[in-house]
Amino acid sequence: MTTLSPKRPRLLRVQSWQDLSPHLRRIVFHSADLADYPFQCNGAHIKLFLPLPGQDVPQLPVVTAQGPQWADKADKPITRTYTLRSYDAAACTVSVDFVLHGDNGPASRFALAASPGLCIGISPPAGPVPMLKAAAHYLLAGDLSALPAIESMLHDMAPDARGDVLLWLPERADLRPLPLPAGVRLHSFFGDADRHAAFIDTLRQCRPDTDDCFVWLAGEAALVADGRALARQQWQIPLACCYAVPYWRRGQDEETYHQSRHDFMDSDGD
Ligand SMILES: Cc1cc2nc3c(=O)[nH]c(=O)nc-3n(C[C@H](O)[C@H](O)[C@H](O)COP(=O)(O)OP(=O)(O)OC[C@H]3O[C@@H](n4cnc5c(N)ncnc54)[C@H](O)[C@@H]3O)c2cc1C
Repeated sequence: MTTLSPKRPRLLRVQSWQDLSPHLRRIVFHSADLADYPFQCNGAHIKLFLPLPGQDVPQLPVVTAQGPQWADKADKPITRTYTLRSYDAAACTVSVDFVLHGDNGPASRFALAASPGLCIGISPPAGPVPMLKAAAHYLLAGDLSALPAIESMLHDMAPDARGDVLLWLPERADLRPLPLPAGVRLHSFFGDADRHAAFIDTLRQCRPDTDDCFVWLAGEAALVADGRALARQQWQIPLACCYAVPYWRRGQDEETYHQSRHDFMDSDGD
């Protein structure tokens, strides 16, 4: 008898969905195959495998010691990276929060068209574990695509945690009540690209007051690049205390941007 690796990719089906705000949709996916999903923490990175146009079910990679392999390279699914917002082992479900940025991208389009039974593939979780590193002072900053991870980290914070959270959201109605510890201040920005300078200026004013800090930056590439330059070059925050991942780039789809993201992450920002 062969034992299935818990690290295998799985096929899931949309069970339900809910609009959390005008631009954020939570989709709950179900599969009995999730019973042994190797969950470690909310906020983990996951790959989603979307069916190609005309397909109902995406091809899944075969996991090998050399990495994922595709039985039919011509039939590779559209792959996107998202955040694991929650996992329920008893119910065999995972939740993912999708930014609804229009029908200009396959993942956003999938979320807009969500209906029970639609099929998607999911990788095992990856990324730092835990996402929130213990620190005396937290500085978390990002846009709506980073909110699922930021919310996950806020849930994990101790009640006496201190720090600042900066959010840049499409509109005021996208700001929902957050589980902020009393010592964590929220700075929110709404609207389009002209808020960039104000966002970075506020970030500059939120410099952690101790070396025992954790800086977490994610979202649009320009925000993360300027935020990381501030943290690493000006404040000299050590690499181990600074997560900085550009989640997407304005005007580029994931296929075009993928390599640049990895180049950015491979450089340590010093
Ligand atoms: C580790 C990690 C975790 C992530 N977690 C999440 C998450 O939980 N939820 C989430 O929604 N996204 C998340 N993202 C971002 C997501 O992977 C990208 O936004 C992705 O490009 C969306 O794919 P798409 O098919 O919708 O658009 P693409 O086909 O990649 O792009 C099409 C067009 O849409 C634009 N675009 C892409 N994303 C956005 C956006 N957020 N807002 C406005 N315009 C956009 C692009 O610039 C491009 O012009 C995460 C990314 C990473 C790396």
